[in-house]
Amino acid sequence: MAKLNDAGIKALRSRLDTASVLTPSSDGYQESLTRWSDTGIKPAGVVVQPVDPADISIALLWAQEHDIEVAVKGGGHSTAGTSSSDGGLVIDLSYMTQVTIDLPSKTITAQGGATWKEVDEAGAAHGLATVGGTVNHTGVGGLTLGGGYGWLSGQYGLTIDNLLSARVVLADGTLVTASKSDHPELFWGLRGAGYNFGVVVDFTYQAYDQAEMVFSGVLGFTPDKLEHVFEQLNTSLANPDSRSGAMCFLTHAPDGSGPVIVVICFYNGSREEGLARFAGLINLGPAINALDTMPYSMVNTLQNPQATYGDRKSFKGIFYEPPMDLSFVRTVFEDFMAKVQSDSDLMKSAIILEFMDMRKICEIPSSETALASRNTTQNGIICLRWTDETKDKEHRAWARQIQAKWKTELDAKTKGRKTEVPQYINYAEPGDSVVSNIYGENLERLQTVKATYDPKNVFHKMHPLSTAST
Ligand SMILES: Cc1cc2nc3c(=O)[nH]c(=O)nc-3n(C[C@H](O)[C@H](O)[C@H](O)COP(=O)(O)OP(=O)(O)OC[C@H]3O[C@@H](n4cnc5c(N)ncnc54)[C@H](O)[C@@H]3O)c2cc1C
Repeated sequence: MAKLNDAGIKALRSRLDTASVLTPSSDGYQESLTRWSDTGIKPAGVVVQPVDPADISIALLWAQEHDIEVAVKGGGHSTAGTSSSDGGLVIDLSYMTQVTIDLPSKTITAQGGATWKEVDEAGAAHGLATVGGTVNHTGVGGLTLGGGYGWLSGQYGLTIDNLLSARVVLADGTLVTASKSDHPELFWGLRGAGYNFGVVVDFTYQAYDQAEMVFSGVLGFTPDKLEHVFEQLNTSLANPDSRSGAMCFLTHAPDGSGPVIVVICFYNGSREEGLARFAGLINLGPAINALDTMPYSMVNTLQNPQATYGDRKSFKGIFYEPPMDLSFVRTVFEDFMAKVQSDSDLMKSAIILEFMDMRKICEIPSSETALASRNTTQNGIICLRWTDETKDKEHRAWARQIQAKWKTELDAKTKGRKTEVPQYINYAEPGDSVVSNIYGENLERLQTVKATYDPKNVFHKMHPLSTAST
């Protein structure tokens, strides 16, 4: 890749009328580098903030003419910096966040830089919702292109299962619509490996009637209840209810009072139905019980006080085959807490485990979309958070050690299967040696789609695909 020079920047500015072009000396440049995790901040050579597809097209063609690396920023939540560039061009979609609703067809169209907050709120204004992320400041861009789990997945599947079309600016600068009938192979690839093919200008999703109020909130348990909590969560998966889900956080109380087990509960129904669904957990006598009815859009804000911007973070996917082994989770919990207590800079870290009804997701064959990880395996994340930059390597290595233990456990439980269980792409960091089976049996077909739509490999930052011929 070439280095940027003044003449190149001048040429770019002269071609762009409406977009902002920011270089290190511009007002707003530093701010534009902000990401959810400080580990994602890189000194871009130039940041282009487009307002329409034409701006994106010009920026992409210019970058290839000058042999400059391209990164695309949606919501900016990649902890590995895949939406950032050291010295190259960042196409930052922060000005493309509009969300529109079409009431007759019950569809929601969100621009590529929107967050789920905008989608949740626009939908709620019309009594509608679609499957979006459980933390509302994540971007629709990355989350959709890698599959997308949310609280409504039990009823409606993944975000990509509700994606009707996407408009994409390709590397050659053309704007195309991808859907089941237009560019069907591109549409297939976008749904699960979508960071590899272009810049998505907007996504159109099927939405559903959504009652304003649902039953949700937080339960907090002391560590002695760990096995009982997981027994209940195992039971919930063995008796799935499509309107229900839970997430369990092994972490420390924000007030510093020690380790805590937090469960976020969700029931898309009334208080009575929710109370009945979570009676087993409630009867364990949680130290905190903040379950209540609330607007659906509020459920996706419950994690916001912990999932704040700032600090250094690492996001490592872990995958488990239910039921969760109780002695395994006890060992993981004790080891994690011991390490965090020995280094208080890690105090805001957590192991997050999901308990979702996978039946709807598994109804769709793995070959139907590029997402290979449609199976009964549940997802989780080791989310480390710290401030000391000199510890980046050490903390990431530790996260990989924990991750390896989960992988050994998963392999042991699934060893009779024909193929290794593919793992959820959005929870995997690129280059992750432990989580390596991302594309599964879809890899070869994806390489062919890549060769058609991005033969020069312009989009290569997140789980890159080589073309079939390379
Ligand atoms: C706090 C938090 C909560 C999360 N919760 C969930 C959850 O509930 N469910 C779930 O499934 N996942 C969840 N994730 C994972 C999340 O889906 C991924 O981190 C996702 O990649 C974030 O997308 P983004 O647009 O915010 O990030 P970015 O860093 O902007 O983008 C991530 C990747 O997608 C590409 N990209 C983004 N937008 C576009 C676009 N418009 N066109 C082309 N490429 C684009 C970027 O180039 C980059 O490679 C969560 C992550 C975090 C950090």
